Amino acid sequence: MSDYISLSQIPVIYHSLRKTFQAAKTKPIAWRRKQLLQLCRFAKENVRAIEECLFLDLGKPKQEALMSEIASSIDCALHAAENVEKWARPEFVTTSQPWQQAWNPRVEKHPKGVVLIISPWNLPFFLTILPLCGAIAAGCCALIKPSEITHHTSFFLAENLLKYVDPDAFKVCLGGIPETTRILELRWDHISYTGNSRVARIISAAAAKHLTPLTLELGGKSPAIVDSTANISISAKRILWSKVGNAGQTCVAVDYVMVEKSILPDLIESLKDAYESFFPNNGGALKSESYARIVSDLHFERLKDLLRQTDGEILFGGDWDSGHGQRQLEPTIVVGIKPGDMLMQEEIFGPILPIMAVENVGEAIAYLSTRPDSPLVVYIFSGSEQNIKKIITNTTSGNVTINDTIMQTSVKELPFGGVGESGYGRVFGQHTFDNFVYRRSITDIPYLNEPSSLGRYPPYTKESYEA
Ligand code: NAD
Repeated sequence: MSDYISLSQIPVIYHSLRKTFQAAKTKPIAWRRKQLLQLCRFAKENVRAIEECLFLDLGKPKQEALMSEIASSIDCALHAAENVEKWARPEFVTTSQPWQQAWNPRVEKHPKGVVLIISPWNLPFFLTILPLCGAIAAGCCALIKPSEITHHTSFFLAENLLKYVDPDAFKVCLGGIPETTRILELRWDHISYTGNSRVARIISAAAAKHLTPLTLELGGKSPAIVDSTANISISAKRILWSKVGNAGQTCVAVDYVMVEKSILPDLIESLKDAYESFFPNNGGALKSESYARIVSDLHFERLKDLLRQTDGEILFGGDWDSGHGQRQLEPTIVVGIKPGDMLMQEEIFGPILPIMAVENVGEAIAYLSTRPDSPLVVYIFSGSEQNIKKIITNTTSGNVTINDTIMQTSVKELPFGGVGESGYGRVFGQHTFDNFVYRRSITDIPYLNEPSSLGRYPPYTKESYEA
């Protein structure tokens, strides 16, 4: 693509960012706050253009674009602008030895330096702005590499972002694998990567050469466990919503459901009702303006293959529309799923919802313990405190959400992130900021202490040893 960065330009850009960082331009809090407010302005003044890009890339309905990408970016930048001073403040510690208190021991938070942000295609605007807010608040310079798959949004970022934030401190490079590979050869002070775990291994190997610390925001198969005490109709609505928003291409979407056998028929009925309430007109989701499309031919074919290969029964949905670059796949419920099914192997990342019936919550927990991957989220739909506690105690995941889906990501104060295959590092609010600073311990030991220090110096004698 002609707008991709040339390989020879990459080190030039890198060194210009280093120069800016060394000049300490990014360090004053007032400068950081101004950049964050500018980021906010960037999103606010370009709402229509961003919506248009997200529609061209993903067929994202305007309301979804506004809620999940633009308003959340504005909120994130504003929150960081309001709190940067507080986050950057030194933390004074209380020592266990009272005489050490006079040393004024504290932790200062210093910017790591020049950082790299690699963002994915599924929320291409928000998942670029979110880490950028952290990098700016921390006082870092940043190179941003958005996804080549969502070309319109990435191109828009490259063309417009630096009209708002300081172009000496921030750069956007468009490119695919060759460009990213060249970028990864350089020594970054932190890399924030959001995407899949296969590429995360490539990023980790490149980072290891320079001992570069990483934030890896990955995905995985997030289950929903529904027991017989759950409110079935609300649970069904909330589960299905996670699969229809962005056509299920969301890292925190429910990947599959494990439901107690006794309530399987009720859950299916409620899912059908929810579907009809979301897409009330003839033609359902495929004719609806409230439904996004699959991002690329590759992913479209991958999802259609899954439907061809599953041994489960497609209960409803399963149609698609390939016309006029539509790539729309109907929300599809598949029942009769066994653990070895194709739908139970990799993260689905699309609007297909496999449902596996289990005897009880214990069987769902046992199944999760056989999987090699730890999910980003375990969703629990239950009114039983005992079952909720049992599931939390006996499973592993980055997050747990009870009786809803996706809404947990609106709590900025909670650290969001994965564990094991779903990644490491945490984001949102101060947690994003924390990724881009290093904690520097400072002690300031007065000369006045010298008389009491003499015992530590050589020559060591029998008397000094016994003293
Ligand atoms: P993607 O294909 O856009 O890849 C992400 C980035 O990796 C892009 O910038 C791309 O250029 C780069 N990349 C791709 N191949 C590369 C290679 N060989 N070498 C170097 N860089 C390369 O996005 P994706 O990975 O398909 O995104 C979907 C995944 O992201 C899902 O697994 C989803 O669950 C996960 N995700 C996680 C979160 C989270 O916050 N935890 C958020 C969104 C998405």
